[in-house]
Amino acid sequence: MLEQILQHDEVFKAPDSLIQQANVQDFDAEYARSIEDPEQFWGHWAERYEWFKPWDEVMAWDYPNHRWFVGGETNITLNALDRHADGPNRNRLAFIWIAEDGSERKVTYYELRRLVSKFASGLRRLGVKKGDTVVIYMPLTLEGVIAMLACARLGAIHSVVYAGMGVGALRGRIEDAGAQVVIAGDIGMRRGKAVDLKSIVDQAVDGLSLRHIIWHQRGPKNELHPGEVDFDTLMAESLPDVAPEPVESSHPLYILYTSGSTGKPKGVVHVHGGYMVGTGYHLRAFFDVKDNDIFWATSDIGWVVGHSYIVYAPLVEGVTSVFREGAPDFPDPGVFWECVEKYGVNVMFTAPTAVRMFMKFGPEYVENYDLSTLRQVAVAGEPLNPEAMRWAMKYLLDDGKRGFVTDNWWQTELGGPTVATPITKQAIPGSAGVSMPGVEAVIVDETGTEVPKGKGGLLALKRPFPHMMNTIWNDAERYAQYWEEIPDVYAAGDVASWDADSYITVLGRSDDVLNVAGHRIGTADVESALITHPAVAESAVIGVPDPVKGESIKAFIVLALGQSESEEVRRSIVDHVRRELGPIATPSGITFVEKLPKTRSGKIVRRLLKAQELGEDPGDLSTLED
Ligand code: AMP
Repeated sequence: MLEQILQHDEVFKAPDSLIQQANVQDFDAEYARSIEDPEQFWGHWAERYEWFKPWDEVMAWDYPNHRWFVGGETNITLNALDRHADGPNRNRLAFIWIAEDGSERKVTYYELRRLVSKFASGLRRLGVKKGDTVVIYMPLTLEGVIAMLACARLGAIHSVVYAGMGVGALRGRIEDAGAQVVIAGDIGMRRGKAVDLKSIVDQAVDGLSLRHIIWHQRGPKNELHPGEVDFDTLMAESLPDVAPEPVESSHPLYILYTSGSTGKPKGVVHVHGGYMVGTGYHLRAFFDVKDNDIFWATSDIGWVVGHSYIVYAPLVEGVTSVFREGAPDFPDPGVFWECVEKYGVNVMFTAPTAVRMFMKFGPEYVENYDLSTLRQVAVAGEPLNPEAMRWAMKYLLDDGKRGFVTDNWWQTELGGPTVATPITKQAIPGSAGVSMPGVEAVIVDETGTEVPKGKGGLLALKRPFPHMMNTIWNDAERYAQYWEEIPDVYAAGDVASWDADSYITVLGRSDDVLNVAGHRIGTADVESALITHPAVAESAVIGVPDPVKGESIKAFIVLALGQSESEEVRRSIVDHVRRELGPIATPSGITFVEKLPKTRSGKIVRRLLKAQELGEDPGDLSTLED
């Protein structure tokens, strides 16, 4: 099957006009430089940024720990805000924020620095200081971004929790991060309706000893209890008097939790120096963004794409970043294209699941709008199926005459494009592309031996790069595991294949992690939530193919003694998972079973459930209990 996938007779190329203007003209030469002399390569790029103190050493690589710009001091907001606010770009738009109802807010670099500095001043008065952790649970608003940047400015470490996550997920993250302060929104807006976030936060923090909750209140103002503070009031009462705090290059910038194959989320740590340099580089080198471009990443600040490509990289590089709160098909399925037309978006970064959704609605929603400014549509999060790629080329980019679709593979842990299709190279439908500069991606077997070209195996990385995670919060061992699972490489946890030109095709996860609409959800996360429902004795979760979302969640449940199957029980279980984990982790199907298939050692064999569900051959069952 892998060999079959590798036979590609269809390739795409960007129009010459795009290739001629590419920021990186000779990709192969650029790549070779990055591999032969990474210190020179990254050191050179880092010189475009401001540092309080220059570094002594570009890279210190002591397997499995890597540090970049060692001895250097900076603050990412010095480069994201001050570098532009004090220079000729002070009046350039930093952000265009769009609400679901079409209203908008625009802020220049000068204005944004003022707002961030004021909010940082307010945080400082509340006692937030360098090294403190702050959890942010806010919808995709300008205030959410200001909260992130204000923490960074003080050298505090933010941990944004996607404002669609449930009570259990939020509480677990606040506890693991050791946050004393939470900045939260009271409501989010989705499909014209206010989504209640306040009650989720109230339940999640119940019994925790927090110092402060800062509420961004868009709904009716609530009565505030001791320790609770109103965002707008804090802002209004503060002066823009906070300069960026000098921090070591490897000082943590943020923690972002992601799923693994156990129920405990991993707090991926990214740092000020290396992350700034690497994500900024890729905004230019991969996304090919020019100074006057309008760049739109359709993600959310709750995900790594939002951190890197809504907030940090566009600001560090001084370009205009668009972001929009709300559903991509509300008020109608043409709203994305209406925004592209209205703001003249040049480069868009979205997800395959979104492209498939637009395919389903039909081209008429696209054809109504003038997309002539759009020249690159980058996609990430899950495999881009060839059909979706063809559709995007045809309808979004004038049959490929005006622009190019570029796939890019990365992970929360990796911070930015890692395996991707540069605009100067050909795109192979179904394949994510080649190793980006600084990256040595290989396909190996379990022993770490590279498999021959044309074969499949495990996707691994042979060396670190500046924007790769620095550690796992409070869990150096778990960090080391990434580099120990397969000898001498970082194990990405994905199954993939490569062809003769080292183009990599990612097939999916090798562990028990699902990809639902581009969101990584551990089967263990859902199973741990299920088991806390009183009617559930045992559960097993699998992913089943979904034409739009990629995968959807199916749960098999053994009921507790005395419980019987009913619609009410089913609904109550689904509601429980939604409450604990949030809507994205809600099972779309539940089947009640007498017992679950297990190995003799007691491990649930999800593979068998999946094969049964899909009517496939379950393979070797010799280790099964019965
Ligand atoms: P996350 O950390 O949530 O960004 O999820 C990372 C995972 O998403 C990867 O390990 C892959 O399984 C999947 N993924 C991300 N980008 C791509 C892509 N371009 N092609 C295929 N799979 C992808």
